[in-house]
Order: sequence, then C-alpha cells, then structure tokens
Amino acid sequence: MVKENMDQEAVLVWFRQDLRLNDNPALYQAAKQGRIFPIYILPSAQQDDWLPGAASRWWLHRSLDSLSKRLGGNLRLFQGEALELIPQLLRQTGIKQIFWNRDYQPAPMQRDQRLQQLLEQRGVQVQTFNASLLWEPAQVVKADGSPYRVYTPFFRHGCLKQPEPRYPLPAPPSIQFLHSVPTGLSLPQLGLLPRQRWYREFEKHWQPGEAGAGDRLAHFVERHLAGYQQGRDYPALNTTSRLSPHLHFGELSPNQAWYVVSHAQLPTASESDRDRFLAELGWREFSHYLLYHWPELPQQNFQPTFDRFDWSDDPPLLRAWQQGCTGIPMVDAGMRELWQTGYMHNRVRMIVGSFLVKNLRQHWRRGQAWFWDTLVDADLANNSASWQWVAGSGADAAPYFRIFNPVTQGQKFDPDGHYVRRFCPELALLPDNYLHRPWEAPAIVLEQAGVTLGADYPRPIVDLKASRAEALAAFAAIKR
Ligand code: FAD
Repeated sequence: MVKENMDQEAVLVWFRQDLRLNDNPALYQAAKQGRIFPIYILPSAQQDDWLPGAASRWWLHRSLDSLSKRLGGNLRLFQGEALELIPQLLRQTGIKQIFWNRDYQPAPMQRDQRLQQLLEQRGVQVQTFNASLLWEPAQVVKADGSPYRVYTPFFRHGCLKQPEPRYPLPAPPSIQFLHSVPTGLSLPQLGLLPRQRWYREFEKHWQPGEAGAGDRLAHFVERHLAGYQQGRDYPALNTTSRLSPHLHFGELSPNQAWYVVSHAQLPTASESDRDRFLAELGWREFSHYLLYHWPELPQQNFQPTFDRFDWSDDPPLLRAWQQGCTGIPMVDAGMRELWQTGYMHNRVRMIVGSFLVKNLRQHWRRGQAWFWDTLVDADLANNSASWQWVAGSGADAAPYFRIFNPVTQGQKFDPDGHYVRRFCPELALLPDNYLHRPWEAPAIVLEQAGVTLGADYPRPIVDLKASRAEALAAFAAIKR
C-alpha cells in the first residue's frame, strides 16, 4: 500500500467520544492542515472494565453509521488496542501527525499519555484538544490549589469565574481525504448490536448522530426551554432536553448547547429557566471533574465512612427492581421506561436509586451496573457520581437520612398518573388517589379497576416504612 501518502501535511484524526463534524477542534485543525485519515477504534473486551454496555452499543452502532455517512464513507473502523494499532497505521501510511480530542476518563487518559509519549519519541507530531468539557478540570481549583468537593462553589466560583467556555467552531469548510489507506472493518464486523433485540423499540425514541442531536437541541429550545425549571421535575411532561446520549457520544458539544441556550430569545420571566439548564450542564461538568480528580469514583465510596455500611445481598430483590416488578408503581414505571426506551427521567432515576440503595439496601454499584448496561446515555462520570450522590456516599451527596418516599414522590410529581399509567398499563383504571399505592386500595376499588394484586400486578416487595427504618439504623451504625 500506501507509502504514496508521504504527504507531510496529512493527519490521522482519531475520533473517540466526539462523533461530530461541528465544533470538533481536532477535525477542524486537521482539515485546515492537509488531507486527513479519519479512524475510530473500538477497544477489545479485555482492555477496559468500562466497555460500552448493551444499550450504548446500539447507540454507538447507529452513531458511527451516521458519522461515516457524513464523512462520505471515509471513516475507517478498527478494533483492538490503540497503543498498537495507531503506531501500525502511522507506519503503514507514512503519516507523521495525529490529532485527537482529549478523553478525561481515567483509563483512556492513561493510555493516551503513554501513546503520546511513544509517538513523540518516534517523531510523530501529536496535537490534542478539549472538545467535551466547558472548562479544563485541572484548571478549576480552590484558592489553595485543591479540587472542589461541593457543586455550588465549584460551579459559581470555580467555573463561572473562569474565562467563558470556548465558542463553538463550525464544521470544517472542506475536508480532503487520504485515499490510499487501510480499509479496516465494516460496521457490522464491529459486532456492536447486542444479540438480544429489545433495543428495536429504541428506534421510535431516538435518532443517534449529529443531525439528531441538532434537531433535539433546536426542539428543546423552541418548545421546552421556557418553563424548564418547573417542568423538569415532572416525568410525564417530557420537557427536559434528552440531550444526554448525544452529549455522551459527543454528537453535540456542551459548548454548542451552552451557547445556543445562552443566546436563545426568551421572555424575561424565563431567565431562570435558562440559568437552570446551564446549571445542569454544570452538574455534568462537576461529575466529570470529580472523576478526573478522584479516578476511583466508579469503584470506591467517595466518603470512606460508607466502606462500613451493611449492604444486603438479595438477588431476587435486585431482579424485581431491574424488571420493574417491585409492586411500587413509581419505581416500576421508571424501570420499565428504562427497559423500553433506554432512558429514564432524572426525577425517577433519583426515586428508583433511593429505593434500591435505601429500601432494598443493595449496594449502589449494583444500580450503577444495571444503568451502565441499559441506559443509552450511560456515562462513567455522570452515572458513578449520581449513584454515589443517591447513596449518600458521594461528594456533595444527598444526606443518607433523606430517603425518597416513592408514594409521595409519585403523588407530587406524577399527580395525574400519566407516567405510571403509560408504563404500568395494568394499573390504568385505578383512581388517582390509589394509583401510587395500590396495596392500600379497598378490595372493591381494585376489583373495579380490574387489578388483582399478586396476579396482574405484584404486591410490594418491601414494606416502605419498615425498610426505611432499617436503612436509617444501618446508617446510624456507620456514623457511630
Ligand atoms: P436535562 O435536564 O435536559 O439536562 C441537560 C443536560 O445536563 C443533560 O443531558 C446532562 O448531560 C446534564 N445533566 C442533567 N442533570 C444531570 C445530573 N444530575 N448529573 C450530571 N449531568 C446532568 N446522566 C448521564 O448523562 N448518564 C448517566 O449514566 C447518568 N446516570 C444517572 C444515574 C442516576 C442514579 C441519577 C440520579 C442520574 C443520572 N444521570 C446520568 C443524570 C441525569 O439523570 C441525566 O443526565 C438526565 O436525566 C438526562 O436527561 P436530559 O438530557 O433530558 O437532561
């Protein structure tokens, strides 16, 4: 092959979690410089504990397909160890420059440092860019140089006092490709699509890829940004942006979301909606920041007191939770939403999370693992930080004694029962005042609604009051 590419300006562009053409600094700079050879490498099984879960693999398959089309079929796919593959590809093609956007997760960061060192020793020019975070995590520190541990000072004093986030770049005005390059694998050869076909339903809810991300952002700003602050807590309203998987896979940068929302025309009364949305991007930033400074966050309690917590281990209870068969409607609706759509509303994530770690006293890592496999937006930083937040073991966590009551949460945030009725249709005919607590409904009410508890819908797998008291006692024990 390929030494005809001894083109001094040619650049290998390594796509990772930045599957887009717009606001992609590595691609933009490379395209300015010369012809490019764009690649994507799927890590192989044994190299990373956090390979994409099943729902993420579906998304990645669709997203790579979309990116490949946008690049006119020039994206080359590989699978294996980047530390071996990239030097090989550079040798084969004679290319002397490689650009990528930085990944701030612990394992990729270590690998990238080693790779950069190795390539520079061989005379390859390496350029890396920030394309996934609004601020550099190493630069946001307290006056004494240590990292923030609490969200509000992190965002208000750490981030907002930094220079404004980088303004988004356009897509490169033109891209020239190197043609004589290794062919790599076809998309089906990557084998991303899980064997189990439950994900077929996802097609109804999502459009992976950069175009889908842009549509989603435009729709959100036009229809739901005004009113976001109130509406974001009501799962049936469906008024949050649903940008999380697009942000995770880098089909949209946080900078694009930040500036589109910052510049959106809104009535004065909606300024707080805008601020609230930007603050949620701040929570995303905070989770990634925590993971950067505390790389053990996905495995270890942020607060070591929790190492002594008396978790219980009960596979049937865990399975009932996973399958949305706990007998607690708000929890079951959430777990079924997750299974059917690959997504769960944030309010409901907090409710099902609290139920798992507090009422069922299962370790937060079990919830984290299930979410990792089933969420299309599964994200190591957001998922780990959020589960630790729910458990009370995290940075700036909800205090352990604040245990969500799924009945009152349902009554407050799903008052008309639209959300529960959508995902638990067997309860659809129950009147609102019993919908969130069917076990308390009189026999006649159940009969009229056509519900036999234990047959059509489970009885609760735990007593909410008793399990709450047990959780509090277990917490008091670690405090002692
Ligand atoms: P919007 O309300 O429209 O918010 C806009 C963006 O801000 C989101 O897309 C997301 O990138 C970010 N964001 C919002 N809330 C949070 C938050 N609490 N923490 C961090 N970033 C946030 N989010 C993930 O992206 N991946 C996960 O794996 C994940 N796991 C979670 C697990 C638990 C137990 C909990 C309680 C939350 C988890 N979250 C996770 C955070 C949050 O639930 C989702 O980001 C949000 O529901 C996505 O919906 P949206 O895009 O409509 O959010």
